[in-house]
Amino acid sequence: MPETENKLLVVDDQPDLCEFISEAARAMGFDTFAVSDPQAFRHAVEEFQPTVVVLDLQMPGVDGIELLRYLGERGSKAHVLVASGMDQRVLATAQQLGRSQGLNMLGALQKPILLEDLESTLRRCLRGESPLTLETLRAALERHEIEVYYQPKATRVAPGRWVIEGVEALARWHHPALGPISPVRFVSLAEKHGLIRSLTEQVIEVALRQCCAWEADGLQLSVAINLSPQLLNDLSFPDQVARMAAQIGADARRIVFEVTESAAMFDPGTTMDVLTRMRVKNFGLSIDDFGTGYSSLKQLYLMPFSELKIDTSFVRDIFAHDDARTMVETMVLLAHKLGLTACAEGVETQEILDFLDSVGCDRAQGYFIGRPMPGDRLGEEVRRWNAQHADASRSSQTSDSSHGS
Ligand code: C2E
Ligand code: MG
Ligand code: MG
Repeated sequence: MPETENKLLVVDDQPDLCEFISEAARAMGFDTFAVSDPQAFRHAVEEFQPTVVVLDLQMPGVDGIELLRYLGERGSKAHVLVASGMDQRVLATAQQLGRSQGLNMLGALQKPILLEDLESTLRRCLRGESPLTLETLRAALERHEIEVYYQPKATRVAPGRWVIEGVEALARWHHPALGPISPVRFVSLAEKHGLIRSLTEQVIEVALRQCCAWEADGLQLSVAINLSPQLLNDLSFPDQVARMAAQIGADARRIVFEVTESAAMFDPGTTMDVLTRMRVKNFGLSIDDFGTGYSSLKQLYLMPFSELKIDTSFVRDIFAHDDARTMVETMVLLAHKLGLTACAEGVETQEILDFLDSVGCDRAQGYFIGRPMPGDRLGEEVRRWNAQHADASRSSQTSDSSHGS
């Protein structure tokens, strides 16, 4: 099969959904084929040779997990997307299972599937015209085309009162021909090809300068920056970051580095050395996406973290599942018992924020508080939010701040 072919196989017992997915895929240039039973599925895998498989996890008489196993046994190289109306954890587990069988898991689609989500996911596995190559990324780094957006992080300063005191820096790349490219995608490409240090240095430099610019404008915000596991294996990294901060004039106490739980496992000895020296230099350390990685709780108490970030997948489900609520509450307690602050990610509604407030979560981040945005737009958003929350008892009043929007 030539590399440039795009063939999508949909496996679902709902004909309308098969048609919806097929139509969207055809509009993007895929050949499509839809099946709804295991025999037809096996036949299609052999004959049609899909490059992408969209797999429903629940079908009468067969479950998607069995079909995943079949693909794994066949050594399939196709991108696999799982779809289901079940909760995020089932989808996450199915993906882990697929990965453990050597499959190229592309992600999960929660039913009802939104066209926008489907298209952006499928775009990532289109072969042919304009693939994201190492050279494209290298050129973007040389031309400093990677931008940094900032998402507000609110701090609970009193019961019911959340004030924005910090942000998370998130890398953004809008390629002229390929459109917006997810950081998950280009960060992993950079990691694979030795470009992650240069990418991270660019993000750190831009974020530190922005932090100083806000300060000059009267806004004191802490800035969290994501670190790839690979950088934690480099003993020179803490000194380099401290040097950059000193040159730019940024206070290390305002800077937090977010590390994923699984990253902390990479080489525990070196990682611990690097992280401890970062803490000694007054940088904050946050354990990102907590609860989703592979590392044991042991990593958490061994490494010198100052904040625990509760992953979106738990936060999003708190009203759908009692056990998600229990997990969030317990993670807040765990953080506090270990002397860390707890930050919930993926806060999309006031109700979720109220729940977090009731369990004493210290920080919250998510679309309800603010989406990632360019640095020059952030000041206005922060001032607006903080003015509205200046006093919980008069939360609907507007601000008297001279900087107000
Ligand atoms: P992360 O560090 O866990 O960042 C949070 C992600 O959740 C961001 O996705 C953010 O846009 C998204 N998000 C925030 N609030 C909500 C919400 O309420 N609902 C939902 N559905 N999503 C929300 P983004 O920007 O696509 O970044 C994805 C991941 O890419 C990040 O996850 C981080 O691991 C990585 N990343 C981003 N920038 C960098 C970087 O400069 N360096 C490294 N090493 N990794 C980065
Ligand atoms: Mg993060
Ligand atoms: Mg996270």
